[in-house]
Amino acid sequence: MWLHPRYTIDTIYHLKPDQLAKQGIKAVFSDLDNTLLAWNEAETAQEMKQLKQDLQAAGIRLVVISNNSDERVGKVLDPWGIEFIAHARKPLPTGIMRGLRKFHLQKDQVLMVGDQLITDIQAANIAGVGSVLVKPLVETDKWNTRINRFFEKIIFGIFIVTGRRVTFEEHLK
Ligand SMILES: [Mg+2]
Repeated sequence: MWLHPRYTIDTIYHLKPDQLAKQGIKAVFSDLDNTLLAWNEAETAQEMKQLKQDLQAAGIRLVVISNNSDERVGKVLDPWGIEFIAHARKPLPTGIMRGLRKFHLQKDQVLMVGDQLITDIQAANIAGVGSVLVKPLVETDKWNTRINRFFEKIIFGIFIVTGRRVTFEEHLK
């Protein structure tokens, strides 16, 4: 199913770079808002920098895949030296496919991590890369995200009645 995540984990900050490297992962693609950075930003920025370094040490690239503009994403990520693809058009697979081409990656070498089923997970599944759903870092969302959350609740309900309940693991399994 397009909306069902392949993996679930509490937060992107519980990824274990060495374990991913052993599984042949060469890149972690990630959503920005509420996945890598909290809405109010500052506190999680240090964690984001550390994650980038830890992944890098394991030979894994961190690339942000965002629907926002180059200007907005660059302003946030350039100071940390984090690569990104802007105007990704999630839930379309456009941005992820651009990332695969740009960094010469195979689909099975990439995980796409995000906090929204309808944008992040759907885009990953359509693109054919491993999808990882995380809990949003903070509960408050922009108005358009709140609409997605409403539909997500319905989808999570459908998962439960079809025996595919989504539960969050502490670490990737
Ligand atoms: Mg998000």
